[in-house]
Amino acid sequence: MRFHGRGGQGAKTASRILGTAAFLSGFQAQDAPIYGAERRGAPVAAFTRIARRPIRERGVIAHPDLVVVADASLISDPTAHVMDGIRSDTAVFVNSPLSKSQVWEGGSFPGPIMMLDLTGVALERLGKREAISALLGAVAARVVGVDEASLRGAIGRELTDLGVSAEAIERNQAAADFCYRSLTPAPLPAGSAGQGAKTRLQTPVYESPTLGTAHIGASANSVLRETGGWRTFRPVLIPNKCNGCWLCFAFCPDGVIAMTAEDKPVIDYDHCKGCQICVQECPTHALVAEREQEGAAAWRAK
Ligand code: SF4
Ligand code: SF4
Repeated sequence: MRFHGRGGQGAKTASRILGTAAFLSGFQAQDAPIYGAERRGAPVAAFTRIARRPIRERGVIAHPDLVVVADASLISDPTAHVMDGIRSDTAVFVNSPLSKSQVWEGGSFPGPIMMLDLTGVALERLGKREAISALLGAVAARVVGVDEASLRGAIGRELTDLGVSAEAIERNQAAADFCYRSLTPAPLPAGSAGQGAKTRLQTPVYESPTLGTAHIGASANSVLRETGGWRTFRPVLIPNKCNGCWLCFAFCPDGVIAMTAEDKPVIDYDHCKGCQICVQECPTHALVAEREQEGAAAWRAK
């Protein structure tokens, strides 16, 4: 199984939840993530193998039986490689409130597709936007056929390890139960994984510091890399609430907020990655988070 998410959505923890749930229900399990520099909003992948026998293979899963996509915008992000190694029988799950035709404007996955609005469930039942790891783990467990009791146990273990409170874990388990029961699972490929298209998973590039100063020159960290497609929520200004304090300008980690002569922020949405730090720091709540509804159909890298 391969999970694709954005930094902060919990794809890595979801892969652990699935692995632990499978282990609790009697499988051998293995999980591991892959990402470059830890950066909120950046594409992340995580892998879970489960089997009845000891698992000797290590490393990335090039030809998955199940792909879980935590945000539809990843599908059109060329650096996320969501489509890599997918065959006609690979089951694909996408977290989105949109229809399949809206998400796959101009293209499609070859295999069975499942869709459910996990972010909507998180907003409604958990009262938060991101960290949907328990819900991603739940839909994966449903497709794989891991039982609900093992899923609940795995969510409890993994979220406890992360320091989540008992009350929040209980709410995550209840929301996960809801997603588990709401999904109509597609069949997984019969037998072991076969060979699909050539895999091009990303290899991180590390550059040497220049004269003792950190030098960030790789394409993923420059003006040439339009990180606007990373957003699941966008910051939006309510002008009459803004007092012109410049705090959003100072806190934006990517420097994508400019200020007008009237001390109002202007956000460069081509490069705003949607971390919501400006929303959290604005003292007058003049910046609010609005969900990106368009997904892959709306945002195009130029
Ligand atoms: S932090 Fe809020 S109040 Fe201050 S300039 Fe930014 S939007 Fe306006
Ligand atoms: S504008 Fe706000 S949401 Fe966008 S990158 Fe800057 S701090 Fe994050």
